[in-house]
Order: sequence, then structure tokens, then C-alpha cells
Amino acid sequence: MYKFEFFKPVDLHEAERLVATNAEYKFLAGGMSLVPSLKMRLSKVAGLVDLGDIDSLKGIRLEDNNLIIGAMTSHETVASSELVKKAIPALSWLAGGIGDPMVRNRGTIGGSIANADPAADYPAGVLGLKASVITNKREINADDFFVGLYQTALYSEEIITAIRFPIPECAGYVKLRNPASRFAVIAIMVAKTFDGVRVALTGAGSHVFRISEAEAILTKNFSPTALNSFYIRSEELNSDIHASAEYRAHCFKSIASRAISISLSETGNKKLS
Ligand SMILES: Cc1cc2nc3c(=O)[nH]c(=O)nc-3n(C[C@H](O)[C@H](O)[C@H](O)COP(=O)(O)OP(=O)(O)OC[C@H]3O[C@@H](n4cnc5c(N)ncnc54)[C@H](O)[C@@H]3O)c2cc1C
Repeated sequence: MYKFEFFKPVDLHEAERLVATNAEYKFLAGGMSLVPSLKMRLSKVAGLVDLGDIDSLKGIRLEDNNLIIGAMTSHETVASSELVKKAIPALSWLAGGIGDPMVRNRGTIGGSIANADPAADYPAGVLGLKASVITNKREINADDFFVGLYQTALYSEEIITAIRFPIPECAGYVKLRNPASRFAVIAIMVAKTFDGVRVALTGAGSHVFRISEAEAILTKNFSPTALNSFYIRSEELNSDIHASAEYRAHCFKSIASRAISISLSETGNKKLS
């Protein structure tokens, strides 16, 4: 690891100001992705601005028909929240399947979204549920947020403050996980949202993406067998050391069918009373 400065501001403006003073200062959330990459010298910083003491970035609340989850909320807090379990059980399930207990207790939703790992779980949740990313400057639609491999629409000094999840009619998340890291070999979020059916795939490309042909089929017939004669083209998927594109294409149909079944089950349909 290289030498760097360390700051722990207690308010958002101070964090923003600090990062604006030096292009090589970075925000630190749970450190679960950033610290290993610094240790392996895959990235370098002149300073870390730890967001851990900024209370306004933590917590989960219900606002109208939206769940607002603070950026510094840990995966474990999301997974165990009664509010999330009731409003969007698929999101609670997704968070509970991330990594191991240490990763879930340290890692945060904001860090995961900002990192935009191509095999991470939350990007599928954010895109599939038509969430939006709230920052200290603006609110960004999920459709405009993930732009490439580890690339998002964020400016370098922009801080994610929260994610807004509109509560869907129903949703299901299914992941075929890597048995070692638990990252997605391929995973899918299927949801019936206020804006129609959405299907988001993670682990299968350079970044999370939607499958519009599958969405059109499910709009007409939202059932576990609806995609039986739909074939995702393997040329649209990636091959890597974990799986070939053909294998991912083969798995797509069964994970999609399971995600739809979950959406239609009592669990996927749980509603706030
Ligand atoms: C062993 C292991 C297994 C894992 N398994 C999984 C898995 O199964 N599924 C999965 O999805 N993930 C997995 N992860 C990744 C994990 O979820 C991380 O928590 C997440 O990717 C990063 O979150 P973090 O809070 O640790 O962010 P950090 O590592 O602290 O930061 C990551 C990046 O985001 C930026 N950042 C952080 N917060 C903000 C903010 N509020 N605004 C703007 N930028 C910000 C940082 O500057 C940095 O560039 C795993 C990690 C490990 C180490």
C-alpha cells in the first residue's frame, strides 16, 4: 500500500470540500472493494475521506411509496430490516446473499453502487427495480447510472447520499453465485414496477443491463414459463474464467423462471399493510 492522508469528516459538505481539494482523494465507505485494490496496488490515492461518521448517510425510511436507503447503510442492515423485508423482500434477499458476514457488515449499498463491479448484486437491484441514485448534487435514474465496466455517471467529487427504490408490485432476485467469492456468475432481478416489467442481469456483461425482449414478453404474460421459447444470444454475454457465454445463456432461462415464480409467490408479493 502507498502512503496516503486519512480524513474522517462528520458532515457531508466537509467530505465534498476535502475531495474537491485534490483529484487523488477518494471516498472510503466499507473499504471492502477499495482497500483490497489499494493493497494490491491496483489503485492509488493521495487521501481517503472516510464517510463512516456522517450520520445523515445511514438508515432506511419509507417515503410515500419509496424506500430510501442511505448510502452508508450496510448490506447486513438492509438484509435484516423488517421494513425492507415487508416492502421489497427481493431486495432483502439480494443483500443477504452478498459475500460473507464480514463483507455484509462492512460493505455499504453506496459503495457497491459507486464501485459498479460487473458481477455485483446491487446494480441488478437498482436497475431492475427502477431505483434512482440520490447524490449531493442531483438524482440519477438507474437507466443512466451504470455506464461501463466499473464506470458510473458520478463525477469524481460527487457523493451518493441515498438510493430511492419505488416499491414494486412484485419482484424476485435469483443469483447463480461463484462459490468462493459469492459474486454473481449470472444473476437476475425481475420486477413489475410502476413503470412496467423490468429484467436486469448482472455478472453477464461489462456492466448490469436490461433485456428489453424479455421485458416485452413478460409484459404480455408474466408467468414462469413465458420465456420458454426465448433465447438470449450468447454473443451478448461475456466469457471469463468463471463461465462461458454459452453457459450463462443456458442458465438465463432457469434463473429467470425462478425469479418470476418468486415474484408471484407470497414472498415476492408481500405488501406494506
Ligand atoms: C470477499 C468479498 C466478497 C464479496 N462478495 C460480493 C458479492 O457476493 N456480491 C456483491 O455485490 N459484492 C460483493 N463484494 C463487494 C462488497 O459488496 C463491497 O461492499 C462493495 O463492492 C463496496 O462497498 P464498500 O462500502 O466496501 O465500498 P468501498 O470499498 O469503501 O468503496 C468502493 C468505491 O466506491 C466509492 N464510494 C464509496 N461510497 C461512496 C459514496 N457514498 N459516494 C460516492 N462514491 C463512493 C469509493 O471511493 C470507491 O471507489 C465482496 C467483497 C469481498 C471483499
